[in-house]
Amino acid sequence: MNAFILKRRAVMLSAVVGASSMFVAGGGGVANAQATPVSGNAGYYRFRVGDISATVLSDGVTGGPTRVYASDAPEAELQEVLRRAFLPSDHMTLNLNTLLIETGGRRILIEAGAGGTMGPNAGRIFANLAAIGLGPADIDAVVISHTHPDHVGNLRTADGGKAFPRATVFVPKADWEFFVRTDPDLSYMPVSEDFRVRFAAAIKSSLEPFMNDVELYEAGAEIVPGLTTIVASGHTPGMATFLVHSGNDQLLLTADLAYHPIVNVDNPWRPGPDRDKETALASRRRIFDRAAADRIPVLGFHFPFPGLGRMLKTDGGYAWVRANWQF
Ligand SMILES: [Zn+2]
Repeated sequence: MNAFILKRRAVMLSAVVGASSMFVAGGGGVANAQATPVSGNAGYYRFRVGDISATVLSDGVTGGPTRVYASDAPEAELQEVLRRAFLPSDHMTLNLNTLLIETGGRRILIEAGAGGTMGPNAGRIFANLAAIGLGPADIDAVVISHTHPDHVGNLRTADGGKAFPRATVFVPKADWEFFVRTDPDLSYMPVSEDFRVRFAAAIKSSLEPFMNDVELYEAGAEIVPGLTTIVASGHTPGMATFLVHSGNDQLLLTADLAYHPIVNVDNPWRPGPDRDKETALASRRRIFDRAAADRIPVLGFHFPFPGLGRMLKTDGGYAWVRANWQF
């Protein structure tokens, strides 16, 4: 274990003493939570991983042209797959399934969600936190898989402050170097130049409040007991996936190894935003193989809410098997 994590643990433990359950009115979360769900359905889902209590907190949805997420799919095949799944032919909806875990007296949020950075239908995490009786000040740590805007967008308030005022923010070091310390060449992304410029700016501005106190981690590190990061680079230079574990129970979070199970699990098509497509493919196979072989429950960040299921190994690849809803 790294010394910084030990040091940070001490800080987090002392911070817990001052924890309050009050929703912090006037925080950026409130401003960001304007995309009120029209249906009023729940946007949170509770379950357990051994002794760890876990809650999927939806930040809402984002999305884009289907072609972006299935970059090498033959057009006719792609259209047939979408038709048979009753999905639109030209637009793919992606969920934003952040995960709150409560363990060892700490509340740790895995992924921050998009906030206002990726369209008008996100930013709901604060309303869903409130729905389970918590506010942004109750979060002790936020752990980010990679720094794309849909994973860091809620970190900053409208006025430039920290949306989770007490939380230590953990970011993969290689992503910080690439997206924050430099002006990255994003020409590999199959989107317009205008989109790339806004995408890059959203990353920098979301992380700007943490310039002096971000905790940079190397994938493979244990963040706290029960939360381990796993090397999964390719999509971005530093992307990590996560294993939540307690006793014999495990949960594997796949981050953006796949955007939607229909195109990136049931079919082997490659996400266009993968920066290094071969490394991303190798990461995807290694981690999907592990999930399938060990029958580990999986949470897909962008999969249909709540994003829980398992990977089945098939003759030609994988199949996504959704978990049954637990009441
Ligand atoms: Zn994403």
